[in-house]
This record gives sequence, structure tokens and C-alpha cells, in this order.
Amino acid sequence: MQLDSTSSHLPVLPLQFGTPLTDSAIRVMLLGSGELGKEVVIALQRLGVEVIAVDRYPNAPGHQVAHRSHTIDMSDPDALLALIESEKPHFVVPEIEAIATDALALAEERGAAVVIPTARATQLTMNREGIRRLAAEELGLPTSAYAFADSLEQVQAATDRIGFPCVIKPVMSSSGKGQSTVRSADDLPAAWDHAMAGGRVNHGRVIVEGFVDFDYEITQLTVRAIGENGAVQTSFCDPIGHLQQSGDYVESWQPQPMSQRALAATHDVAEKVTTALGGRGVFGVELFVKGDDVYFSEVSPRPHDTGLVTLGTQRLSEFELHARAILGLPVDTTLITPGASAVIYGGVEAAGIGFDGVADALAVPETDLRLFGKPESFTRRRMGVAVSTAGDVDTARARAREAASKVHPIG
Ligand code: AMP
Repeated sequence: MQLDSTSSHLPVLPLQFGTPLTDSAIRVMLLGSGELGKEVVIALQRLGVEVIAVDRYPNAPGHQVAHRSHTIDMSDPDALLALIESEKPHFVVPEIEAIATDALALAEERGAAVVIPTARATQLTMNREGIRRLAAEELGLPTSAYAFADSLEQVQAATDRIGFPCVIKPVMSSSGKGQSTVRSADDLPAAWDHAMAGGRVNHGRVIVEGFVDFDYEITQLTVRAIGENGAVQTSFCDPIGHLQQSGDYVESWQPQPMSQRALAATHDVAEKVTTALGGRGVFGVELFVKGDDVYFSEVSPRPHDTGLVTLGTQRLSEFELHARAILGLPVDTTLITPGASAVIYGGVEAAGIGFDGVADALAVPETDLRLFGKPESFTRRRMGVAVSTAGDVDTARARAREAASKVHPIG
């Protein structure tokens, strides 16, 4: 793994804004160009930034709206460093976890680019062990009981302490992949096999978590951005409630009603974990809430899928907040209206699919759609989202669900 950069061109704040595709441009490279990356690209474009979108497959959603696009294996450190070297971005913005984060650390160390929020944050959060040990053992934040295990025997030993039900997850996985909720010792071998098959790389290591019987779960979008005094300040969006199925979010809404104590605890946890990760940008802090108690679950150092709802609810969406935070600009987390989002799945396995019912969906009051433009559909692939607003969250949720149900993918 090499990086020949000798002349650092690290951006200095406040930035001198320029013109894309000229020498004065501010260049941002997105690593991962899915639906979340696409919205970040659009937000950056609107501020006159030159954007380079990278993904592992051609014509990814973000590729379609960027100045330039590249298709590489982002888990290959040499390929990643070569691209950073040739494009010379001022900022590198990871949008997914499956990235050669040691290459990002090298790029950061050599002053080749600013990594958002920091290379260390991307390293710690791509592995459930790194972030759990930081949160629970270094910061003392409340979490479920947990243990790490490298074999079925170690899993069995961990459950002697943690008990049932428990949740078993590969340490290198996200979105519920390889994850099982286990109710008795008889189900442990199947859960172990499922975890070994579902990890991002076969790391052979799992986390065994005590099952948290929560009342509801939230994403606390937290923004670290330059404040009035020129230093990084933390601000919070209103909490987002969400519903998960098979580890994937199907609906989200904002604001999630919470007690004052639970909200204060949420802010405390979110501030501590994001401060420890450092840098600037939006973080999605995931928490379980039971009564007034909150339990830290995990954190994404980037906009969060459940935060798609902010496209309708906030003065600045989480994507615009991320763009501003990256560029050292002021942020504003004001909520304008209650709202909700509902996911549109592919439903079919086909390339270049069509969508029926778009006009019917948009006839639902106060409703918008995003069709992501993914070149290939899978049954459970997220292909779009409906975002609705209303005077209250329940009405917004009903509207978003209704709109999403009217869109029919056709193979
Ligand atoms: P994760 O991939 O860790 O975000 O887990 C996906 C979803 O599984 C979460 O959003 C929860 O709905 C559920 N889940 C994960 N861990 C636990 C736990 N320890 N207790 C209860 N539910 C959990």
C-alpha cells in the first residue's frame, strides 16, 4: 500500500469556495454512491462543489448526479489509494462501511485529504467490537449485556452469563445480515452458522448481546459542525423513531415522542460517543429506549437511512447538514413539520425495472417520492422511498405507507 503524495493540499477553514471543474474547485470524493450518497452529492453540487462519486458497480445512484464517477473495489487498499492519488480530493466522505479503512488512515496521515469525520471513526464503527468497547468500556455508556465469541463453544459460554433471549451478530456486518435472535440453547448452532455465512468478511467472530426489551428504538442524528466561535459544536436533530424488519428499516418518523429524561439521556450518550469519534459531519446514533432509560446500540459516522425522513421534515435534510458540516459551514437542525418515510422494495429480481403508480403515490397529500435509479432490482432491495408530512406523526406515517404501497415495480 503506497501513497506518493508529497504536496499536501489539505483544505483550510474557512474555505474559499470556487467553481467546479476549474482550479478553484473544492473537490469531494464520496466512497459509496447509494441513495444516501446520491443525496449528499446533490447537496454538495448545490454549493458549487466538484463531486467525484465512487462505488463498486457502474451507474450507482450517486454516479448519476456527480461530476465524475469511478467503479472500483473500495475494500482494495491499493485501488482506493491510487484513486485518491489521481483525483486529489480535498475531502473523502465514506458512505458505506465496507471500505479499506487502513488506506483511509494512511491518506489522512499523509495529508492527502481530510477523511470525514475521521479515519479512526470509520475504523472503529465498521467493526461492532471497536465501537462497543469504546462506548461501553471507555465511555461507560449504557448498552445491552454483551460478549465476543470466536467459536460455538464460546457462544454457549457467553449465553451462560447473558441468558436468553439474546441476539447474535457477526462483528463485521450491518443491516441485520447474519443476525439471529436466539431463545434457547438448542438454537445456538443454527445462529452460529447463520452468522458465519452472513458476515461481511468471514471474520469468525460474533457479538452476543442481551436482548433489550425496548419500548421503541430511535436514531439520534447528531451534527458536529463549526459553530459561531470557530470551534466544533454538537447539535441534535429531533429524534427519529423507526420500525425494523429483518434488520432493515421499513418506516421512520420524526419527531419520536420521548420523556424529557429519556431525551436528555439520549443527548448525553450521543454527545459523548460522537465527541470520542471526533471530526465533522452527521452521525446516526442508534439507541433503544425503555421508559426513561436509553441503551446505546451503534453509530454510523455518516447520514443514516432512517434519516431519509428529514428530506421532508427539516429545514436542512441530514444530507444538507452533512454537506455543510464537511465544508465548515454553519448548520441549522430546525424541524419544520412532523413527517414519515416508508421504503419501496424492488419486489422483483430484474435489471432496468419500471415503476407503476407514481402519479397515484404523489396524489397522497403532502407526499414526495425518491426513486433511487438503481440499475438492478432484488426482491428486498430498497429502490425508493415515500416521504410524507402532516400535522401529526400518525397521519404522516399513514400517508407515507399509502404512497409507498401505490408504487409497483415491474420487471
Ligand atoms: P443492528 O444491525 O445492530 O442495528 O440491528 C438491527 C435491529 O435488530 C435493531 O435496529 C433492533 O431492532 C434489533 N436489535 C439489534 N440488537 C438488539 C438487541 N440487543 N436487543 C433487541 N433488539 C435488537
